[in-house]
Amino acid sequence: MSKPPLKPETIAAQAAGAVDPAGAGVVPGIQPATTFLRGADNALLKADKIYGRDDNDTVRHAEEVLRQLEGAAGTLLFPSGMAAVVALFRTVPNGGRIVMQTGIYWGVTKWAQDFCARREITLDQVDCSDLAALQTACEGPANLVWIEVPSNPWLKITDISAAANLAHRTGAILAVDGTAAPPGMTNALELGADIVMHSATKAINGHTDVLAGVLSCADVESATWQAIALDRHDAGAIIGPFEAWLLMRGMRTLPLRLERMSQNAQAIAEFLTTHENVEAVWYPGLPDHPGHDIARRQMLGGFGYLLSAIVKGGEPAALAAIGRLNLFHRATSLGGVESLVEHRHSIEPHSGIPPGLLRLSIGIEHVDDLIADLQQALEG
Ligand code: PLP
Repeated sequence: MSKPPLKPETIAAQAAGAVDPAGAGVVPGIQPATTFLRGADNALLKADKIYGRDDNDTVRHAEEVLRQLEGAAGTLLFPSGMAAVVALFRTVPNGGRIVMQTGIYWGVTKWAQDFCARREITLDQVDCSDLAALQTACEGPANLVWIEVPSNPWLKITDISAAANLAHRTGAILAVDGTAAPPGMTNALELGADIVMHSATKAINGHTDVLAGVLSCADVESATWQAIALDRHDAGAIIGPFEAWLLMRGMRTLPLRLERMSQNAQAIAEFLTTHENVEAVWYPGLPDHPGHDIARRQMLGGFGYLLSAIVKGGEPAALAAIGRLNLFHRATSLGGVESLVEHRHSIEPHSGIPPGLLRLSIGIEHVDDLIADLQQALEG
């Protein structure tokens, strides 16, 4: 009788069965070796261990946990989220075409614009959460459609299944940046995406102490995945074993953390909508969010930890409010156990982000404390 598939909580808590067989420890060890032995006959002692760049057990274990959580055919780790993004974009040939969502993580937009200009790749940026706009963009041939769901910091929700159909009709693959909806929250591959990317620096690790990125695919035989795997091996964008080990440790509590973060974020979003000094709240868990119905269908593990609030009074009021916060750390990034706040307009002033917008990454603190902190900061 075949075993029923394990639930994400079990996969994560037991690190997908990764133990330390040599020391009989229930926690896997770290393999720091950069090279592996050959015997007196010059044969490798272990066929899958030649050199540290691609043959590290700690990295493989961390990839296996992520592969299982994502329900993927293959998973590769990279030393940062950006390194993972770049590994995928580099598979697009010179002269090709990319359709990319507007209003996504600024670092990806900026890098992709430079990259496409250098490589004579046509880059069409459209609001992919607007399926009519995406459909128009997909009328011409393309190699890659890139969406971010939910998007950072606009919290737009794109229908992943519909986007996959549109991308496939034009001959493109659909890749999803799921950083704000980690594995277990949205199953992008099951919804039809070909590749899903996460900045594992964020909630996957969750403790704000590891930089990492991950790509997972639906088909390891696809030309794109083969090119990514070859390029990682040959070009050497490899995560170190210590980071991979920390990541595996962080992931043991991923489903638990996501549950608490989403509950907290929902309560905070609801609180902010009632506050007289807040003009708007963008959070897919709010029933009046334009993407709420899609989010209900595709965010099966909660509506996430990221939200944006627009403070009345524009930039001065927003900066004054974050200056008064005591518990929320003023810092970039997201997805950690501690709550963070950022004034994104100061970081990317020309990207159309409202000057009064505060991006909040909600952690696992007690929600009453977080709400009290926001209340006193908004009321001055
Ligand atoms: N994608 C999103 C949505 C992000 O928010 C970030 C970083 O903030 C990245 C990608 C890049 O990840 P990393 O910082 O790990 O390189």
